[in-house]
Formats: sequence, C-alpha cells, structure tokens
Amino acid sequence: MARTTRLSTIRNMGVIAHIDAGKTTTSERILFYTGSSHRLGDVDHGNTTTDWMDQERERGITITSAAITVEYRKHQINIIDTPGHVDFTAEVERCLRVLDGVVVVLCGRGGVEPQSEMVWRQAQRYSVPRLVFVNKMDRLGASFERTLGEIREVLGATPLPLYLPIGAESRFEGVIDLIHNRAIYWDQDTQGAEFRFAEIPAELHDEAGVERRHLLETVAAEDEALLEKFIENDDLDVEDLRSGIRSGTLKHLFVPVFVGAALRNIGVQCLMDGIIDFLPAPDEVPPQVGEHPETGEREVRPPAVKGPVTALVFKTYTSGGETGGGRMNFLRVYSGKLAEGDFYYNSRLGEKERIARLYRAHADKKSRTKEVLAGDICIATGMKKSRTGDTLTDLEHPLALEELTFPTPVVMSSLEARVTGDEEKILNALGRLSEDDPTFQVSIDDDTGQTVIKGMGELHLQVLEDRLVREFNLKVRLGKPQVTYRETITSISSAMSEYDRTAGGREHFARVELKVSPLGRGGGFGFDEKGGAGSIPPEFIKAVETAVRDACDSGIRYGYPIQDVKVHLVGGRAHEVNSSELAFRNAAMAAFRDACRNAAPILLEPIMRLEIVCPGEFVGGVHQQLAARGGRVIGTEPRDDVQILRAKAPLSQMFGYATDLRSATQGRGSYTMVFDMFDRVSIEREPF
Ligand code: GDP
Repeated sequence: MARTTRLSTIRNMGVIAHIDAGKTTTSERILFYTGSSHRLGDVDHGNTTTDWMDQERERGITITSAAITVEYRKHQINIIDTPGHVDFTAEVERCLRVLDGVVVVLCGRGGVEPQSEMVWRQAQRYSVPRLVFVNKMDRLGASFERTLGEIREVLGATPLPLYLPIGAESRFEGVIDLIHNRAIYWDQDTQGAEFRFAEIPAELHDEAGVERRHLLETVAAEDEALLEKFIENDDLDVEDLRSGIRSGTLKHLFVPVFVGAALRNIGVQCLMDGIIDFLPAPDEVPPQVGEHPETGEREVRPPAVKGPVTALVFKTYTSGGETGGGRMNFLRVYSGKLAEGDFYYNSRLGEKERIARLYRAHADKKSRTKEVLAGDICIATGMKKSRTGDTLTDLEHPLALEELTFPTPVVMSSLEARVTGDEEKILNALGRLSEDDPTFQVSIDDDTGQTVIKGMGELHLQVLEDRLVREFNLKVRLGKPQVTYRETITSISSAMSEYDRTAGGREHFARVELKVSPLGRGGGFGFDEKGGAGSIPPEFIKAVETAVRDACDSGIRYGYPIQDVKVHLVGGRAHEVNSSELAFRNAAMAAFRDACRNAAPILLEPIMRLEIVCPGEFVGGVHQQLAARGGRVIGTEPRDDVQILRAKAPLSQMFGYATDLRSATQGRGSYTMVFDMFDRVSIEREPF
C-alpha cells in the first residue's frame, strides 16, 4: 500500500454507465470535491464541465470523451469521460483500451440495464478492474439489495459491498462504512464537501455486523497471511482489509460496491477513496505489447519512465475551420517521456511527426506541460497526420501497438449541400470528422454520385450533421437513414478456378478449388486450409486466405460485406516455375465468388435488442407498436410500479421510434436499444 513512486500515484480511470444512471452528475461531484471546479455543474441545466460540445449540452448526453486530470489525496486521477449512448459504443471501447480501471455507475432503481450489461462485457473483454457505484438511492423504488442481486445474476460478478445505505428513497440519509465500522453523513450546506462520522444507527447494527463479517471472510479467504490474522484476531485492521480488497479487485475475484446519491451529495467521496485504494496504478496492469513495424518481432514495453517512448493516440479531435481548425490528439503514454518540440515516429505512416505543445486537461481549462511521463494521459497539438489508433515512439525504437478495433457502421444516409458551391468544403469537413471517429465513414455512391455517410445510429449521424453546421458553418440536407446490410450463404457449394495468363513478361499459373459452407449467425469468417496441403505450396495458401478475406468486402449479389461463411481449401495446383502469388490470389477470388453465388446467398440486416420501461396501462399499446415495426417481445417483467419489456426488432423499422413511444405512453415510456446481431431479412422487408 505504501508505494509512493510517481507511477503508483496515478490512476487512469473512466466512468461508464447506462444513459441517465448519473455518470455526469457523479463526475461533476468528483471535480467539485477535488477543487477542480468551483461550482457544481448541473446536467439538467446544461452547464456541466465534462460535456464539451454544444450538442451534448443540448441533448444532455456525452458524446466525445474528454480526459480530465484531478488531484486527490496526493494522487493524480485522469478521468476519461465515456459516452452513455449506444450509438457511441466505439468510443467506450476506445476508452477502455487506455483505462486501467473503471467505475460502473448503476441506478439504484433501474439496476443493471441492457446498456450497463453491454459496457460491463466490454470492460470484461479488456480485463479492466471495476468498482460499482449504486447511485440514486434517494429515488422512489431504489433498492440496494435488488441491484446487488442483478450484479450477481445478470452480470455474473461477485459484488462485495463496502458500504451500506442508511435508509432509502426520500429517507436515504447517509452510508455505513464497513471498512471503518462507522456511519457517514454529508453536510448539505457545503453541497456535500463536508461530512461527519457517527455511530452506526442502532437499528442497522445487526445488518452491518453481518455484512462486515461477510466482507472480512471474503477478503481473508483470498490471502493466506490475511486469513491467519483473521483467525487469530477475529478481525482485520483497516490497512490489511484495504490491501486485501485491492488485490482481490485487481485479480477480478470480486467487485467492490459503493452506494450513494450523487445529486444529493451522498457517497461520492467514498467512491473517490475507492478509486485510489482499489483501482490499479499504471504499473499494476499488464505491459503493452507491440510489433516492430519492419521485422514483425513482438516486443514488450513495460511502464518505465526510462524506457523507449511509446504512446498511443486514443482520440483525435478536430475543431472547425472557422475557429482556426486546431487538431488535438489525446495520448496515453505507456513508456518513456514525451517532450514538447520533439519528433516521434508514427509506424503506420512510416514518418515522423512533431509535437508542438503538450497539455493537461482540467475541468475548465488546459494547462501547458513541457513533458509527460510513462503512465500518464495528455493532449498533444502540432501533429498533422497522426490519428486514432496510431502508435508514436522515439525514432530509435519503432513499434506498433495492437490496433484498436471498431464495429462497422449499421446506419447510412445520403447528404447534400443546401447551398450550391459548398460541396467541396463539405467533403473536406466530413473527411476531417471521419478521421476523428473511425465508426463514421464517408463515401461517394458510384451509381448516383451522392455523398453517403455511415455511422452507428440515427443520433450519431445527426450529431455529425450538427457539427457541420456549428463548427464549419456548412448547411446540409440529410436523407432518410437506412440500415447497412450484410450478405451470407445458406448452403454448401464448391467451385474451381484456374488462372493462366502472361503479365509483366512472365507466365502466371494457379488452380484453386474451394468449398464454402454456412456458419451460424455471428460466426464471422473461418478458413480451413487442410485440403490445400500437398497440392499448394504454403506461401501460396496464405495468399489464398488473404484473397478470400478481401473478397468478402465486395459481397455476393449486392456488394455488402459477406459474413458467417467458412471457406475450405479443397485442392489446387501450382506450376513449378510459373506459379505466383498474383495467380493464386486471382484464382482464389474467382473460385470464392462462384462458390458463394451457388450457395443460396441471402441478405442479413441489423437486429437490435430493446428494453422498454413503461407504466402497466401502456403495455398493450407498446406491444402493438412493436409488432407493427416487425419487433418481437421476448419477455415482460414488473419492476415496482412499471413494466419492463424486452424485445428484438429490426433496426430498419426503428427509425423515429422515440417519438412514437412517447406518444403511445403519454411521455412516460423510455427505451434503450443495443445492436444484437445480423440476421436474415424477412421476406416482406426484402429491399431489392
Ligand atoms: P448520465 O446520463 O449517466 O450522465 O446521467 P446524468 O448525470 O445526466 O443524470 C441523469 C438524471 O438523473 C439527471 O436528471 C440527474 O439530475 C439525475 N440524477 C443523477 N444522480 C441522481 C441521484 O443521485 N438521485 C436522483 N434522484 N437523481 C439523480
């Protein structure tokens, strides 16, 4: 616990949550209590500090992640703000990659909602240690017990409550601190900045005793030294208990649970202590691994200030042309030391780029800093071409860290200039915006010549439209949003293709025989090369696989990407002298195309998972509305005074659903929607 190296005092963490759970309110309180902002922002009045962009303020959601640095208990906490809306899950993924720990905010009333589940799974995928903050305990229907149950059942995690609520709903007054065995109450005159400790209320004595015992036993069970002390003293001192909780959290044995109501200024400082005490420092997470851009050799870059410079661009943000068009790169430094004015090697570009200035972002300002050390997060300006996902290193030690992966867009829309003559400027602006956001793509339709933009949802595209207006002063007309499809096959088919030509003054020969078979939904792409062994030299087998993967991008009948297909290399032939990679590539592509065409191809469309919350009297109407949109209710369950409907529906039918739901429920229904899978388009919705 008493490590005090510079690295040990940094926490790179983020707050993730279902929209409306209280992530912004909680983050605001953290800024306020650390003295980083001098007044409390209020999301309901659109003046918070972490929501940077105007649209976010208007829509009350957080779209871009801002990295804000605060000081607390002689530690530096870098808070990466992550978006809560499902259209922006790529942002969440991108943030998780550079975070070392995460606070998951759950609403004490809504519990684990589908989006919380989704972000939880994302955090799990990146092995990021988590704390849970059960917020909104003051709300009618809030239940700490039920939320713990959902963490167990829905998320499959082991919740370890470190605090218990004192009272609930309008009588939620404070918390019991199980580590120190005391009650804590917050002073409302100082907006919760001050608090006092007290005896645990008599009526909660027994419950607190049981829960504290559970805490001690859970922690002791994981560590032999602690177990011995526990058996001897029938207790653990605070320091031992804290270090046991810390090590169990880092090993993912359990998830510490905190409780409060950010809006009522209750419980936030306990969570802040938890961030310092239980989330990892940058040198307690696995070191980064990358590949040498030329030799392909794998190399580990441990978090050492004296090591070679290694930094990842995890976000770029371009501000509009009107305001000077500055470009900010958010960097996570993994190793070494970045300095202003120096050149760094970008392995994707194969070029060096110069960092003009380095900044740290605070709640309400940026501050210059001459250098940034391993383990830290900062903003760099001056680089012209580096973009999200790029690795920067010093010139002597080039490396490419594993790339960030992003989901492919599911919605597209045409876009036109409202003012003739603006077309060129619009394309330029869109190009810059898509450099910042890999889930946003721009293209020109070959047939119609129209500009087409693609993104993760209706709202995503609208936000980009807003940015064109506000930041670039360009007015555009967005077409109706449409979903993007995929293609797949439904039967097994084989094909053989031979390539035999003269090109570049030499003969090229190859014969490839392939079989394609359907994989289950979500199966992706599979390649089985066994049948090629013996008849095709190994170096050409690789060329066949790459060619087939590339061919997946151009579709079967409609040009949509192909998925859920397994390709078996059945046989082939090479010529002793005249075979080439080019020949195998062409033969493989032709054989794959032929085989797919004869394998009963079909279209797949994006299907979404919905959770709709509405008062019981509207359930019938909501059912009808969903059925009319081709949706299917999978289950209904009561929660307090409302009903929760879980459903699946095709995204193509869900545009404008928010308005419909509001009118069917007199404004009292709400819903969340997450991408589930690509599935077969039903006959009545066949678009072609
Ligand atoms: P986010 O979408 O997760 O960032 O959630 P916000 O912080 O924007 O909060 C959503 C709404 O819940 C706002 O109207 C907040 O005022 C409200 N809210 C946040 N925390 C609490 C709380 O502890 N209790 C109650 N009753 N409301 C809260």
